[in-house]
Amino acid sequence: MEASEVQSACARARRAQTQWALTPVRTRREIMLRLHDLILDHQVELIDLIQTETGKSRSSAFDEVIDVALTARHYAYRAGRLLRTTRVRGALPVLTHTTVQRSPRGVVGIIVPWNYPLSMALSDAIPALLAGNAVVLKPDEKTTGTAVRGLELLEEAGLPGQVMQVVPGPGPTVGQEIVEQCDYLMFTGSTATGRKLAAQAGERLIGFSAELGGKNPLIVCPDADMERAARGAVQACFSNTGQLCISIERIYVHEAVADSFLSRFLALVNDLSLGHGWTDDVGSLISAEHLARVDELVNDAILHGARVLAGGRPLPDLGPTFYAPTVLIDVPPTARLHADEVFGPVVYVEKVASLDEAVAKANDSSYGLSASVWGRERTARDVASRLQAGAVNINDGFAAAWASLDAPMGGWKNSGVGRRHADEGLLKYTEARTIAAQRFLPLAGPSTMPRERYASLLSQALRVGKRILR
Ligand code: NAD
Repeated sequence: MEASEVQSACARARRAQTQWALTPVRTRREIMLRLHDLILDHQVELIDLIQTETGKSRSSAFDEVIDVALTARHYAYRAGRLLRTTRVRGALPVLTHTTVQRSPRGVVGIIVPWNYPLSMALSDAIPALLAGNAVVLKPDEKTTGTAVRGLELLEEAGLPGQVMQVVPGPGPTVGQEIVEQCDYLMFTGSTATGRKLAAQAGERLIGFSAELGGKNPLIVCPDADMERAARGAVQACFSNTGQLCISIERIYVHEAVADSFLSRFLALVNDLSLGHGWTDDVGSLISAEHLARVDELVNDAILHGARVLAGGRPLPDLGPTFYAPTVLIDVPPTARLHADEVFGPVVYVEKVASLDEAVAKANDSSYGLSASVWGRERTARDVASRLQAGAVNINDGFAAAWASLDAPMGGWKNSGVGRRHADEGLLKYTEARTIAAQRFLPLAGPSTMPRERYASLLSQALRVGKRILR
């Protein structure tokens, strides 16, 4: 698409939004509930399409179906309450009647990557649309088909034409035009691109949120159930072939249990089945370029002294973009993947002498997206509360926090700005309008009362108010 076509799409969306904003919230909610059913009904076709575009495993593609259905249901049932005009305490009791309205922002621009093409296309659009906005979505060029099919299903569910536009094309042209045109920007992708877009959103003074990269740690406490921890770690590292912003790339295991954890973990990794069927655990990578990058990072680590305990190489016999699930040890800080996100099926393991050391190492990162802690709940909760991450999963790799849609999801530090999910995940797509009506007396006091007298009365009222208004 050319920049001028993006401009036209944004203009169409802007026109359609005026009418959409007048549609009752209960109508919008019915559309999202129908979308929920349509996504489940069409799951086989959607999974086929996602697999064709990404090469991921069938069960990873199914995760997207579930995610979109859950998100549609969650916000459909929350939107009414969140968008209702609320009465809040006014400046002066009785005399000031204050309400807060929620108004849509207008055209929300959503720019997403390729790793979860259905989830990324719809799960941020759902709350934005429910809030009365139009959406202009730019999928990654590799996964345009899934986004277009997602829009078709939304329209089949009842979304009026033009309210949502899918504009395919490269980031530097199509993405940039969206940044110029939209009233709010939701970005998911790399930290490098997020930083650039944040500056542009700042220049335009539009709202912005971003879900960016991670280098997520997993900590194994000495009181963890080793079998559960090893199985959970495998899931956490290799789901979606590691191409998941919240997947685990670093494991810190307490030395007291390191040998038993590692031997079980490695046995399970070596047992993983690679392929594209329902029984396969790990699919292929998105592209040959990405495979080359993953392999380069692994080779760089090996060059710096890392040892390969599993995998560490492409698997061309299985297909052009398969990479073996890889476990490294002795990765020095000089290796690039020690701190940099791989975004592939690669994890390194380090023994630690104490949980304090595990926490310090986990926090020693410019990222702060997600983390996982395995152990007795009491121990793990204590560790969790000390981690610098937007989400910490106890005895789970990443899904528990992600699927808790009532809880905010997003990153600390270089992992993001703002949150998706929770009430904030919908309210960010609104502008608040406070309407305060002053009744009977002006806030500055009756014109007939001397100012000094009024100041004294107001001071006394404040003292009383402090005791009774909490
Ligand atoms: P990327 O930043 O290169 O691209 C993401 C999207 O931005 C694509 O649609 C791309 O075309 C577009 N884009 C690129 N340059 C642009 C520009 N100058 N202007 C406007 N748009 C532009 O990211 P990627 O490498 O494709 O995706 C992988 C990254 O995404 C990883 O770092 C991963 O951690 C992150 N990610 C984060 C989350 C999260 O929720 N935190 C989820 C998925 C992926």
